[in-house]
Amino acid sequence: MEQWKRSLAACITSPEELAGYFSLDPEPLRAVVDKYPMRISPHYLSLMHGDGDPVWRQCVPDPRELKDDGLESDPLHEEFLSPVPRLIHRYPDRVVLLAGSQCTVYCRFCMRKRTIGCTPGASDHQGLDDAFHYLEKTPAIRDVILSGGDPMLLVDDELEDILLRIRRIPHVEIVRIGTRVPVTLPYRITPRLCRMLKQFHPLYINTHFNHPLEITAESADACSLLADAGIPLGNQTVLLRGVNDDTDTMKRLMQKLLMIRVRPYYLHQMDPVRGGGHFRTDVKKGMEVMAGLRGHTSGMAIPYYVIDVPGGKGKVPVLPDSGRFVGDTLLLRNYQGEDIPYPVTLDSDFTTLPE
Ligand SMILES: *Cc1c(COP(=O)(O)O)cnc(C)c1O
Ligand code: SF4
Repeated sequence: MEQWKRSLAACITSPEELAGYFSLDPEPLRAVVDKYPMRISPHYLSLMHGDGDPVWRQCVPDPRELKDDGLESDPLHEEFLSPVPRLIHRYPDRVVLLAGSQCTVYCRFCMRKRTIGCTPGASDHQGLDDAFHYLEKTPAIRDVILSGGDPMLLVDDELEDILLRIRRIPHVEIVRIGTRVPVTLPYRITPRLCRMLKQFHPLYINTHFNHPLEITAESADACSLLADAGIPLGNQTVLLRGVNDDTDTMKRLMQKLLMIRVRPYYLHQMDPVRGGGHFRTDVKKGMEVMAGLRGHTSGMAIPYYVIDVPGGKGKVPVLPDSGRFVGDTLLLRNYQGEDIPYPVTLDSDFTTLPE
C-alpha cells in the first residue's frame, strides 16, 4: 500500500482517540462530532502541541460549533447555484466541480461544513455524468475548478479519469485543483501523481496553508514535486480568529509560502457559516493585516483580501486605503502613511498640486 493510503487509514476520527495524545475530556466533543465529523491526519497531528495552538484550533472539534449562532449553513447559496448536484456555477465563465466530500482533515471553519465528510466518498457516477453533460452543453465555461472535498483524495486513476473527461471538452481552457493535501497529507504528492497531472496542462493548483507552522519539510517536498511538474501553485488562506489574525503571523506565512514556490492568491474573510462564528474577525482586522503587508514585504507575498458576498454574489476584493481624490489629483497613501500627490490624467500638471 502506498504511504499516503496508510496515512489516511491512520487518521483519528474520535475525541477518545485524541484523548490518547493530549489531556482532554472527550465527553463534550462527542455531540459536536455527531453533527460535524472529525478527522485529523497523523502528519497534522504531529504539528499540534496542545490545547489552543493554531493547528489545534483548526481541527479539534469545539462545543461552540453547536451554539445557535444565527448563521446560515450555506451562506453562499451554493446549492441554489447548482445546476446539477456536483457543480456550482456562479460566474459566467468558470465553474466548481465537486470531486467528493472527503478531506484528510475536517477543518472546523469549513464553509461547506454542512456536507463535508457527511456522506461516504464512494464515486457517484450518475452525478459525474450529469456534471459532464452540463459542462459539455455550456460553451461559456472555460475554467473548471475541481474542489470538494479534496480532489486529491481520489486515487490516481479516478482523478485521471475526471481530468481526461474535462480535457475532452474543447471550450475548457484551464483546469484548477483546490487541495489541502500539501498541508495535511503531503505524502499524497508522489512522482507518479505528478507525471499523471502534467499531461493536463495548463493545470493550476491552489492549496490552503493558514499558519507558518504548517510549512514543514514534508509540505515543502510536496510543493517542490508539483512545481517541478510545471504546475503553478497558489494559496488561499482563511483569516481565522486566534489562528492567523495578526500581522506578524500573516507576514511570515506569506514569506514562507514564497520560499516553497507557492504564490499567495487570496486571503478570505471567514464566511458567516453556521458553526463557525467563533472563527470570524472584523473586516477592520483584515484591513489592518493587509496594511501590515503592503510595502512591508515583497509584493509577490501579498494576496488579495476578498469577501465572498453572502448569497453567492461573488468575491469582492477589499483594497487598502490607497488614497483619495483632490480635484485632478490622487493623494496616494503609501505604506508609511504618507500622502503623495499623483496626477489623475496625463495632462494635469504636477506644479498645480495642492500643498
Ligand atoms: C471562488 C469561486 C470561483 C473562482 O473564483 P476566482 O476569483 O476566479 O478564483 C468560482 N466559482 C465559485 C463558486 C467560487 O466560489
Ligand atoms: S480541506 Fe477545504 S473542503 Fe476540506 S474541510 Fe478543510 S476547508 Fe473544508
